[in-house]
Amino acid sequence: MPRTSTAAPKRVLLAAPRGYCAGVDRAVQAVERALELHGAPVYVRKEIVHNKHVVEELAERGAIFVEDEAEVPEGAIVVFSAHGVSPAVHENATARGLQTIDATCPLVTKVHVSARRFAADGYTIIMIGHEGHEEVEGTTGEAPDSIVVRDPEKVAWLSQTTLSVDETMATVDAIRERFPALLDPPSDDICYATQNRQLAVKEISPEADLVIVVGSANSSNSVRLAEVALEAGAKAAHRVDDATEIDESWLEGVRTVSVTSGASVPEDLVDGVLAFLTARGYPDAQAVHTAEESLIFALPPELRRDLRKAAAGQKSDQAAE
Ligand code: SF4
Repeated sequence: MPRTSTAAPKRVLLAAPRGYCAGVDRAVQAVERALELHGAPVYVRKEIVHNKHVVEELAERGAIFVEDEAEVPEGAIVVFSAHGVSPAVHENATARGLQTIDATCPLVTKVHVSARRFAADGYTIIMIGHEGHEEVEGTTGEAPDSIVVRDPEKVAWLSQTTLSVDETMATVDAIRERFPALLDPPSDDICYATQNRQLAVKEISPEADLVIVVGSANSSNSVRLAEVALEAGAKAAHRVDDATEIDESWLEGVRTVSVTSGASVPEDLVDGVLAFLTARGYPDAQAVHTAEESLIFALPPELRRDLRKAAAGQKSDQAAE
């Protein structure tokens, strides 16, 4: 009699939503459009978004990534990254006569606005985030003098937008024990994309023998997705930049593989991971939908203005011909 296998069938679960958020899409487009409009080079302060492939591709097209605005030649065009910058950076750029395009995500800008408002109202702000991360530097730079608790009745918290939502709330609870009057930020300071991607990975993790998160090592939200996957019950979770980083041994004995990607990850990198799995006998992925996303942010206003001017110039040239 033929032996029948009792092993569960192989399957691939794909988180939805995953990948690009509205803020990343806008920031990457801002550099692309600036290159089209002004030609190379266009300077970009810090990585426009934390993804190795995106940065390499834009660099090939003529973007020059710098760590500091002081490295940008006077009068040149510089794009500020999606993570935001402090007012001091804006001041330095103005002093150097730089033409700036601010691709700060509008959701990060909201956190900056809250920082200014809390500081103006006399609150001490407790910033929850990773020390040294650009976004944390940008937000604390909005209220650099509000870092010592002056009045325990006037303490507020803010956070980096890409942290683990559950961990952040646990931290907030701990801070509240010390400062019962702790004030929360406005609810719309929470990033929808971070929340949605974490909820989606929670959904595909409990049954997963392996979760693959596509995203770069310095991408806070991608690293958090792998942590959230393990907390949600995945037997293993690995973050990779692309399919070439998958170790074949991870697949030993693995029936269910779940796949997701961070907010700065182009979809072709996820396609590469799915193709890798298909080539190793896994079936087509089943998408697991947990939220629909339709948010789009308009390009930075200074770029829209220049694009309008360029379009008007082209029209008048055509009329003169
Ligand atoms: Fe903006 Fe959220 Fe995307 Fe960060 S993860 S760029 S805050 S939408």
